Amino acid sequence: MNSNPTIWRATVLTLFPEMFPGPLGVSLAGRALSSGLWALETRDIRDSATDRHRSVDDTPAGGGPGMVLRADVLAAAIDAAGVASDRPRLLMSPRGRPLTQSWVAELAAGLGPLIVCGRFEGVDQRVIEARALEEVSVGDYVLSGGEIAAMALIDACVRLLPGVMGKCESGADESFSEGLLEYPQYTRPQTFEGRPIPDILTSGDHAKVAAWRQAEAEALTRARRPDLWGGRKGPKSTTDG
Ligand code: SAH
Repeated sequence: MNSNPTIWRATVLTLFPEMFPGPLGVSLAGRALSSGLWALETRDIRDSATDRHRSVDDTPAGGGPGMVLRADVLAAAIDAAGVASDRPRLLMSPRGRPLTQSWVAELAAGLGPLIVCGRFEGVDQRVIEARALEEVSVGDYVLSGGEIAAMALIDACVRLLPGVMGKCESGADESFSEGLLEYPQYTRPQTFEGRPIPDILTSGDHAKVAAWRQAEAEALTRARRPDLWGGRKGPKSTTDG
């Protein structure tokens, strides 16, 4: 719809184009899509099938269960998408590099990726190599297809695009932005089932609030994600053991 070449664009190759925009069509991402802050192009891999039955998959060489997406069909679908060579070409894959907030920020700052969604047992290795697809994982578990993983990636990128989030600072403070998980949040009512909001948050002392939040974020990160805590760059606070 939007042919503006400078707009951040996700081009999704899938066997199930009817899944899109799906959740990307509502709330923050959906409003931004309707107002032209980003563009979504969904392409059906099956349109590149060449045989009478429009088949896209075949049995795995060497045997074993399931089906594999054919290299020739997928390569034709990628080529037909005609995306500029300076756009990232991603393949959603449980074998891929784990997606992180810093990678998301990098992708959001670029032109927007081509994203291939696998199905079945995955895709023929040769198309990954021949089209230089970079494999991206959304976690150490197996989904039945790449579409939901692609939506997670796109959603995470879109909310960082200029103008998408209400306040420009709302992305700066949240989980992972400083290598920390976010501090706990509270809102009215003042007391919920006998639990008051921590006094400091209603004290009006902004410096104390900031110090409390920093300490809470550090304690949470140390307790829940020692991997993040250990990998943090920059100075650690005096509470570091
Ligand atoms: N047999 C494969 C799994 C195939 S799952 C294996 O063991 O590695 C089918 C498709 O779902 C994959 O091709 C991929 O596109 C997608 N998918 C599944 N889990 C994923 C994950 N954790 N991250 C990203 N994509 C995933």
